[in-house]
Amino acid sequence: MLRRTKILATLGPATDKPGVLEDLIKAGVDVVRMNFSHGSAQDHIDRASMIRDLSQKIGRRVGILADLQGPKIRIARFKDTKVFLNEGQDFALDINLDPLAGDNTQVGITYEPLALEVRPGSRLLLDDGRIVLDVVNVENMRVNCTVAVGGDLSNNKGINLLGGGLSAAALTEKDKEDIKTIALMKCDYVAISFPRTAEDLHEARRLLEAEGCHAGIVSKVERAEAIVPDVMDQIILASDAVMVARGDLGVEIGDANLPAVQKLLIKRTRELNRVAITATQMMESMIDNPIPTRAEVFDVANAVYDGTDAIMLSAETASGKHPIKAVEAMNRICMEAEKQPSVRVSDHRVNIQFERDDEAIAMSAMYMANHTKIRGIVSLTESGSTPLWMSRISSGIPIFALSSSEDTLGKATLFRGVFPMFFRIDEKQDHAEVNRSVVKELRKWNLAKDGDKFIITKGDLTGVKGGTNALKVIVVGQGLTP
Ligand code: PGA
Ligand code: MN
Repeated sequence: MLRRTKILATLGPATDKPGVLEDLIKAGVDVVRMNFSHGSAQDHIDRASMIRDLSQKIGRRVGILADLQGPKIRIARFKDTKVFLNEGQDFALDINLDPLAGDNTQVGITYEPLALEVRPGSRLLLDDGRIVLDVVNVENMRVNCTVAVGGDLSNNKGINLLGGGLSAAALTEKDKEDIKTIALMKCDYVAISFPRTAEDLHEARRLLEAEGCHAGIVSKVERAEAIVPDVMDQIILASDAVMVARGDLGVEIGDANLPAVQKLLIKRTRELNRVAITATQMMESMIDNPIPTRAEVFDVANAVYDGTDAIMLSAETASGKHPIKAVEAMNRICMEAEKQPSVRVSDHRVNIQFERDDEAIAMSAMYMANHTKIRGIVSLTESGSTPLWMSRISSGIPIFALSSSEDTLGKATLFRGVFPMFFRIDEKQDHAEVNRSVVKELRKWNLAKDGDKFIITKGDLTGVKGGTNALKVIVVGQGLTP
């Protein structure tokens, strides 16, 4: 059986050790994340070329996602690296303080508008909510607070405002520079951190396209503003994929609200024909331990039941002690979760009128696949739209996306249930000959045997985008198929 849910693993020091990247891919990683919050441009370029080489060697396309840092608001530094804050004490965030001069009464901050955007009673969450400060008042760009939850606080920790509302634009000057590197690296996806509205995503797309880059845009939903109903839909529609960025989002909206938001976001994303990623702390305890907690096992399985396309590992692979084991654990949990009947059936959008023939063919193929005995679906595709539509429908049947377009193969690495394979249509061949080549290709990878029934969707063999106009059923070893 093939795993349908895709595994996205963040690269970092732990995966730079010799051999780890190869083992990671062999263990089942489908897409890697380059986190532009850490490391130099050259680090990312080197890792991308290693991924491409390994992908070739192993014979499976691995997608590359570049994740922009975005306007993560941070405190500056302490004289002694870290301080301890006691509950009830005073503590100030001061824009005018020397950025290296923090102590246990005050610290600098780089985000100028903070003093204008908080008011007495605002609650600030530092270091993913480990430290909580309540704003008492604001004097001349200095935000005076009392410590509601204390503990260790070290250099450069992030700050979130409970309920959201900090106005920082999603794309920083650093992000704009990084976009140039990303265009050179030919990434498949670019993740935008902290988008507020669809306009932030349109801007990112314009900047990428100006560099000649057609990477898919991933919106990281991690601000309270981004889940307001209309805004959420606009953000999804402006994206190719949506990440439930549970780390920052949980801090802004409160952890208890996360499960419902995750379910809603995934459902809406699929309905709007976009791809969903579930991220952050899925296997957190495996940063140190070789096995996941029971709660983590349930979290991964529940994301699969929610319909996510991909699940993401962050520090577990980037800097954890057991990166390979974390991927192996995700793999086995997904495989079992995907056996549940509820994730293999679909109501097939019964009440929807389709405007396009290719979309209608994609839906017809899924209807047939889910209601007859079909080994797999083969979509000969240039743009990748047909396998994307197909994979929005719940099913247990694999969808093989055969394309000669590197862009399309790269994007399809993230689609649930879709297996990208390089395939070039020989334009001199007629339809029957193309079917035979398809079967040969499937046999080459041990994906087909005599008697297996496949659905093939394709266009008029012109290699042009958006041309799917045919659905053919073939049985391997019978009729014209070898
Ligand atoms: P990050 O985003 O890992 O870049 O912070 C994901 C999240 O906030 O959950
Ligand atoms: Mn985040």
